[in-house]
Amino acid sequence: MRKTPAILKLVVLAALLAAAAFAQTADPAKNAAKPPTTREMNLMCWQEFGELVPARIRTVLVPFGSLEPHGVIPSGTDNLAPEAMARDIAAKVDALIAPTLNYGMTEAMKAFPGAVSIPAEVYSPFAETVLDNLAANGFKNIIILNGHGGNTAALNAAATRVANARRVRVLVVNWWTLADDITKAVFKQNGGHAGNNETAYIQAFLPDSVHPERYKPEMASPNAPAGAYYAAPVASTILLYEKGQGYPTFDAAQAREYFRKVNDRVAELVLDTIKKWDLAGVYKN
Ligand SMILES: [Zn+2]
Repeated sequence: MRKTPAILKLVVLAALLAAAAFAQTADPAKNAAKPPTTREMNLMCWQEFGELVPARIRTVLVPFGSLEPHGVIPSGTDNLAPEAMARDIAAKVDALIAPTLNYGMTEAMKAFPGAVSIPAEVYSPFAETVLDNLAANGFKNIIILNGHGGNTAALNAAATRVANARRVRVLVVNWWTLADDITKAVFKQNGGHAGNNETAYIQAFLPDSVHPERYKPEMASPNAPAGAYYAAPVASTILLYEKGQGYPTFDAAQAREYFRKVNDRVAELVLDTIKKWDLAGVYKN
């Protein structure tokens, strides 16, 4: 048998190496075992998404917010807070992050500069369609991180409809209520819309976007006791849950502590709820 020339051996070796490298990158099973290059759907290419969902990742976090005045913190607070939360907990709950819905229903605050409000008849079907598409893309656990109280009723209704129609599980989290006891523990008092709790949460990761120099305590007023009165538009954008409590204090250390504790609480709720859904076997497959 004739000896193979050295150059031919090299060519064959190079071809084998190239084929092996191609097989590695083109094999979805191998790629799925790697950690995702990003948790954000906005930043992920469709090929990687297809390899990960639903084979490896079945949970998505979706921030739903609003653009409305918030005392002396950004008007996008209801978008920025759940986005920061999603980035902080995504790896812990092994989820991807869907892009934020940056507009919500805020009729009561529409009078203030820079506010945008979407009517319910537009918002509800749009929000529901987003959830429906996430389910169609293979997510089994859809976690709504809601930043805005005005969205809650519409999101709860959309969650119920999509869960039953698509046989998926949907959780709506209103962090400021979930963290009620954390607010009272960290600040030793109750909070408010754009009050100490929401202001601290934003201050923890966007200190330069918080403006104590514009703050005056008279900018705050308590929420009306049920049925007592109604003002349209609202007269204050800092709405205290309880009279006399929840004024922003702009304490950086408290802000960091609050951010950490709130996010841990939300992650714990997400993991616990998925565990219980799995245990019950509801809409599992
Ligand atoms: Zn808010």
